[in-house]
Amino acid sequence: MTTAPAKPATALDQAARDPVIEELGFPTDPNNLYLQTVSTMLEAADVIDLKHRVRIILGQPKNEIMVHFPVKMDDGHHHLFKGYRIQHNNALGPYKGGFRYHEDVHLDDVKSLALLMTMKCALVRIPFGGGKGGVKCNPRALSEGELQRVTRRYCSAIADQIGPEVDIPAPDVGTNAQIMAWFADTYMMSSKDHHDGIRVVTGKPVEFGGSAGREKATGQGVADVLAEMLPGVGIPVQGMSVSLLGFGNVNSWAGRILQDMGAKIVAVMDHTCGLRNDNGIDMHKLATHSEANYGIKGFAEADEIGEEDFYRTTVDVFIPGALEQMIKAKQAEWLDCKVMAEAANAPCDPSGDRVLSGKGVEIIPAILANAGGVTVSYFEWLQNKSSVVWDAAQVDRELNRHMCVAARRTLQTRDKNKCDLRTAAFAAALEHIGAVYKVRGIFP
Ligand code: NAD
Repeated sequence: MTTAPAKPATALDQAARDPVIEELGFPTDPNNLYLQTVSTMLEAADVIDLKHRVRIILGQPKNEIMVHFPVKMDDGHHHLFKGYRIQHNNALGPYKGGFRYHEDVHLDDVKSLALLMTMKCALVRIPFGGGKGGVKCNPRALSEGELQRVTRRYCSAIADQIGPEVDIPAPDVGTNAQIMAWFADTYMMSSKDHHDGIRVVTGKPVEFGGSAGREKATGQGVADVLAEMLPGVGIPVQGMSVSLLGFGNVNSWAGRILQDMGAKIVAVMDHTCGLRNDNGIDMHKLATHSEANYGIKGFAEADEIGEEDFYRTTVDVFIPGALEQMIKAKQAEWLDCKVMAEAANAPCDPSGDRVLSGKGVEIIPAILANAGGVTVSYFEWLQNKSSVVWDAAQVDRELNRHMCVAARRTLQTRDKNKCDLRTAAFAAALEHIGAVYKVRGIFP
């Protein structure tokens, strides 16, 4: 991987003039996440001269499902919840993508994440399209019983529009394997196929059809991509310094795996505080502490630091693995890293992206860096379909192969088109989708 020249303008600057944006009547707020995501896609579409008909199809999701459902809370009152399921594109296979429980779930954000899933599956060449869902709620404020009732009602509300060959949800922010088990059970109880219904969702517990290696898969994929790409910019994984934004499922695993590969994690920040230790923070101990305390605050073997100190910590690799658009111009100015590997989807807003590109930071885009989760979800779906069980070594081997091939595909597309890695990853995905539309045609 050799460093690409800094981009003269962001995808947004470029695509604000794109006629497809006008044609589809998009919001004008430049920080709107959906506008940002479509703009990136359209910039890559220009690079490969993608057909207009494919651009407009991908510019909007096929289906936007919004539901409202009442749930009886522990104190006896009923609360009305709002849920979404966005089915972006299914040209390559069933819609695929997680659902999240978070207070800030909004339609345009879920649409963006669904579009990114379409791109991710196409880049890694797994036979799925893109989807995403969510329920507007604070899972930390719900009891276990309430969480279960919300999950079962959300599943019932969208059950007619999903299915093992139609749309396959998975975990995301605020959801986990237990929630997937309740979701699958609800679907199976009302499905004619009953046991085959288990494939309606991935990320299930291993004892209930889940795959070995799924829990760590996204973090493992981040580590696999870094190991494949960093030698190209002269950074050996052994001894490299890393900072982590977010320490949930993805980054706690990425941190543990990278430490085991010889990297030194010197700074971590989550919603509770920032931590720094220039000698390295033990990721295994921190993961145990974080699980017990719902956050990293109070960990004794590192100094507590504020937001600015966290971002200013000099590192080789910065891995954002929290929420979308957290890195704005201010945080990007503070950042002192050579490479940013996007474990989270769209971690920068357009202004943050612009600052980082201007500083020459090499950005490994989310559709490549965090594709490990959906890849192992595909393995889980395959195992359920064929009633076989892979061991952890087979999962790791196949995941590594998919991630390394996708990384090389992105580099080759970058070199061929002389663009940055984000544009290259989208272009490589769009080439595949465009080729499928070419041979399938558009009905009628
Ligand atoms: P998670 O809920 O397990 O963890 C989220 C982390 O973000 C937590 O550590 C939380 O403390 C932190 N966070 C939240 N608000 C913060 C703030 N204001 N400041 C600092 N930290 C904050 O979620 P996850 O599953 O690890 O997902 C993280 C990101 O990775 C999301 O963007 C998600 O869409 C993406 N992703 C997840 C998967 C997966 O398999 N879980 C797959 C692909 C992409």
